[in-house]
Amino acid sequence: MHFCTEVWLPKKPANARDVIDAVFDGHSEKDNGGYQFYDWYQIGGRWMNNHDPRYNPDKDPRNKEKCPFCNGTGVPKSMGKFEFKRIHAKDPKPVKPKRDCPQCKGTGKATKWPTNWRVLDFVVIEQDKAPKKMTSYYLAVADEEDNLSKLVKLDEDKDTVASKLKELGLKNGFLVTVDCHS
Ligand SMILES: [Zn+2]
Repeated sequence: MHFCTEVWLPKKPANARDVIDAVFDGHSEKDNGGYQFYDWYQIGGRWMNNHDPRYNPDKDPRNKEKCPFCNGTGVPKSMGKFEFKRIHAKDPKPVKPKRDCPQCKGTGKATKWPTNWRVLDFVVIEQDKAPKKMTSYYLAVADEEDNLSKLVKLDEDKDTVASKLKELGLKNGFLVTVDCHS
């Protein structure tokens, strides 16, 4: 399953990717010991807008590509019998297909797979600037040396990232959104 992990860092990372790699190092399912909580991860991904819910990755033109199901035509490859007859008639007339490609709804454009979504700057945010009601599956806490010091599962019925940080007494840090799989 995919799950969102918010990673708390005590200071702003110069390079978020390097720091997250360091924090996650030693905690994969293949490792001996550690938290063994993932087999794959990427910064942002499916939760790219966790820090800014106004942003819709699905609507960002930079996350679009030619629809692979209709090859960008907007018309489904398998046409209905009606269209087939018209096209193979002796005097074929241009015919507007009755159905649009169900994948792209006739636009010819599809949203890229989340692994190829753009990683935007707000994937790293000061903890106080994160949405108050923001949640995640895990909260991962890193120390000054970029080691994972704590991994906390949030209770989806009552915890928010902010309430959990308060409970743990963590202040003035930064949060990085990570899409994880296990
Ligand atoms: Zn399509």
